[in-house]
Amino acid sequence: MKKIFGVIGDPIGHSMSPAMHNDAFERIGMDASYLPFHVTKENLADAVKGMKAIGVQGFNVTIPHKTEIIPLLDEVDPLASVIGAVNTVVREKGRFKGYNTDGLGYVRALRESFPGSIEDQRVLIIGAGGAARGIYYTLASEKVTQMDVANRTVDKAKQLSDACPYPVDGVSLTLEAAAAQLETYDIIIQTTSIGMAPAIDQKPISLDRLKQGAFVSDIIYNPLQTELLKEAEERRAGTQNGIQMFVHQGALAFEKWTGVYPDVKRMEELVLKQLGGNYANR
Ligand code: NAP
Repeated sequence: MKKIFGVIGDPIGHSMSPAMHNDAFERIGMDASYLPFHVTKENLADAVKGMKAIGVQGFNVTIPHKTEIIPLLDEVDPLASVIGAVNTVVREKGRFKGYNTDGLGYVRALRESFPGSIEDQRVLIIGAGGAARGIYYTLASEKVTQMDVANRTVDKAKQLSDACPYPVDGVSLTLEAAAAQLETYDIIIQTTSIGMAPAIDQKPISLDRLKQGAFVSDIIYNPLQTELLKEAEERRAGTQNGIQMFVHQGALAFEKWTGVYPDVKRMEELVLKQLGGNYANR
């Protein structure tokens, strides 16, 4: 019988996950379909119940349900629980278990593109939302210990770092204060929505004091090259956009459902094709 997978979110129409996962299922010869499901906040609990009742084998969770889904699941993986967000659900012996592959997907992507080991680098994370939490806690769980967090609302940056269960040496600061000491960072990770429509021509931070040889990573992938990445490239920094994070979070979910880590390069090409080209990373 065909196995059913999917993604729930609101909005969901432009999700690139179905193309990526359906192709990967086909490549491993599995009789499965991955479908986008438009689920509004008020229907979330019914949707989860319904998916369990009809035998859905696994699904991704996107905006705005990553936190609200937690109490609706039978079990939550410890890292996802610490992050406070689930983006992947797996049916295990009839029970729904939640995981977070966003943070792990990001760290895989960073390790793939950063020349050298990431553990000894001094990191600045810009933003303190859901994506920043996943990235910060996963980096900390992988022994990256020198991390500052800059955010428009500094209190949120402080809450994020205070709640981290892994040891980290770092401070919370304003975007302006981080810009003023930018030359102290080796890796800068941009996780706010600044750079996406409608803030497409904006940067969350000035790069005037960027260290020579620094690496600037922006998790936005639409557009492929944000204003921040454009300027970083002009300043000859290493750069990375959000495509690799996106495909690795998807690949990690696919591995949880099937036991197979798919061809991420192929996934990347499919996503780029859907976005319409213009690759910022190389
Ligand atoms: P979120 O939880 O809503 O957090 C948004 C962050 O952006 C907060 O730090 C917020 O600061 C900041 N921000 C928003 N508007 C701002 C402004 N005008 N000026 C300065 N800061 C502002 O969102 P999220 O889920 O973390 O997602 C953030 C971004 O990551 C989105 O662009 C999303 O598309 C992208 N993302 C990419 C991937 C991927 O696979 N590549 C995965 C997940 C998310 P305050 O705390 O001050 O409000």
